[in-house]
Amino acid sequence: MNKQRFSMNYELRTPNYYDVVVIGAGHAGCEAANVSAKLGAKTLLLTSSLDSIGLLACSASFGGPGRGQLLREIDALGGLMPQIADKSAIHYRHSGKDSAVWAPFVISDRLHYHCLLKSCLEHINTLDIKQDTVISIKHLKMGWEIKTAAQQRFLTKTIVVGAGTFLKGRSRQGNKTQKAGRNSEISAEKLADNLRDLGFELGTFSTGTPPTVAIDKDALDSLEAQQYSRNGRRCSFKNDGSKIEQVKTHKTHTSSKTLQYLKDQIKTNLQVGLGPRHCPSLLDKVTKFSEKKKHSVFLQPESLLQKEWLLNGLSMDFDEKTQQKIVNSVRGLKKAQIVKLGYSVSYRFLKSRQLRSTLASKLYNDLFFAGQVTGTNGYEEAAATGLVAGINAALKAKGKNEFIFERQHSFIGVLVDDISSRKLTEPYRILLSRSQSYIHLRSDNADIRLLPAARRLKLISKHRIEEIESKKKQIAKASNIKANKKLAPDVYREVAFIKKYGSYLKNASLTRQKEETLLIPKDIDYLRAGLSKEAIEKLKRFKPLTIGEALNLDIPERSVKALALYLARKKESRR
Ligand SMILES: Cc1cc2nc3c(=O)[nH]c(=O)nc-3n(C[C@H](O)[C@H](O)[C@H](O)COP(=O)(O)OP(=O)(O)OC[C@H]3O[C@@H](n4cnc5c(N)ncnc54)[C@H](O)[C@@H]3O)c2cc1C
Repeated sequence: MNKQRFSMNYELRTPNYYDVVVIGAGHAGCEAANVSAKLGAKTLLLTSSLDSIGLLACSASFGGPGRGQLLREIDALGGLMPQIADKSAIHYRHSGKDSAVWAPFVISDRLHYHCLLKSCLEHINTLDIKQDTVISIKHLKMGWEIKTAAQQRFLTKTIVVGAGTFLKGRSRQGNKTQKAGRNSEISAEKLADNLRDLGFELGTFSTGTPPTVAIDKDALDSLEAQQYSRNGRRCSFKNDGSKIEQVKTHKTHTSSKTLQYLKDQIKTNLQVGLGPRHCPSLLDKVTKFSEKKKHSVFLQPESLLQKEWLLNGLSMDFDEKTQQKIVNSVRGLKKAQIVKLGYSVSYRFLKSRQLRSTLASKLYNDLFFAGQVTGTNGYEEAAATGLVAGINAALKAKGKNEFIFERQHSFIGVLVDDISSRKLTEPYRILLSRSQSYIHLRSDNADIRLLPAARRLKLISKHRIEEIESKKKQIAKASNIKANKKLAPDVYREVAFIKKYGSYLKNASLTRQKEETLLIPKDIDYLRAGLSKEAIEKLKRFKPLTIGEALNLDIPERSVKALALYLARKKESRR
């Protein structure tokens, strides 16, 4: 009772008092702020620059296997990213034909994406947005005090930290290193020190981006064109797609000259192997796949308004001269001039196992983390963790029970379970193989799977709930008759899927329970089990004794499943 009175007085006396303050308007922060405000929490989004709200650091592409499923799930929970990716889309493509694994894939206009997202946030009533840099957060009896570089002071019940690659960010080009979280945006030095003083253990990861060149569209005609798909599937269930012009992208490849330049660099460059495995630098690729004579380069337009094209696949952080030489050695780019150099960034993140599955920290249950600071890498991963942290920060501030996303029902659940319970040895990306039950977690059924969560949290409208209920009924009815082509496309695909995989789905959970108890022999030859290089490396390092233990490591679940199958077959053949 006393506690409650104290809290209310405190709130009335202090105009700068919030339920939730989100630090950083990256992809994590924007989703966190949106959902927190939607849940009725008085929310403040504090970010160093309003001009970089929801900035796409590199390729403006969304989706593909795993990440496309995440997009559909974010959409099912009323998130912003999928709708805005659709509205700013300039190139749709198909990704995965089978209904079990297909996912949306889209390239957006970077400038348009940023403007739409900023505008969307500005129109939310219970959300304030301010440009300022947080320099310290202090734990009080009843919440947190936040101080900023412009000497503002805020009080809040809960915080979501979404500082991205800015915590002690160091960007690098050749021998030049500067204190920057992205390009030349200033890093967050004091906040990183502050988090360490609060008792958090920080690690260092790094990532990078390729250069961009200025080219007229016509000059690209000599390169292989990648056509956009007119009926490409959307990121959002409800959006009818982009209304803006759709454009081709182009594909080319490196030459023997490129490889020679890179070999010269390998002798002096120390950055090999530091970047994310699923988004390697050019130097990493040449080192790890030394047998390959050429590497693909994809040219993507940055915006319909500009002549700037991103050279996806050429991620590098060499000095200006070397980058220019490498670009001109790529087939078809002999005369291309770099307008923005590639660079790499190293940054601090929260080391594994310091978070709960609500994304609250174990040290302070009213301090939440989301996005790149949790050890993830990628726009969709950031948005998904932002959503989870935003929901739970708002619920906590309102004195309500937490909400946990379960692994078996969503890739969001897989993601938060992995980053809260597993030891991450490299930046984490979502992949289909992260879930043993990925076949249950389809793009087409994300709205149905997450309906209980969306309904309980009141994240979607009544009308939308009715639409999903009606879709469920149509699927149940149509499953009993021959698949009917007149059904809506996503309903049709679900019906076809159930016909094809129905009996497999029934047996899957029983098999899993048996698999977890399988022992892994000490002298096992992982190569014989046909596992990937990544999985073998990690299994040898962590030496799990059972399949159950292997499932708790940062190894794609599909690889562990393949190992379980191999062991089960061996056991069978010994009988
Ligand atoms: C060079 C580079 C290339 C990348 N390429 C890709 C790619 O091709 N595809 C992909 O999916 N992902 C890519 N990523 C990763 C992707 O950008 C991140 O995973 C994603 O942006 C993380 O979102 P976030 O919200 O956690 O942080 P960010 O997007 O980094 O945003 C953090 C925000 O917090 C603000 N901030 C930081 N500290 C403070 C503070 N103290 N006070 C106030 N505001 C603060 C920053 O100004 C920034 O706006 C790349 C990242 C980098 C750096």
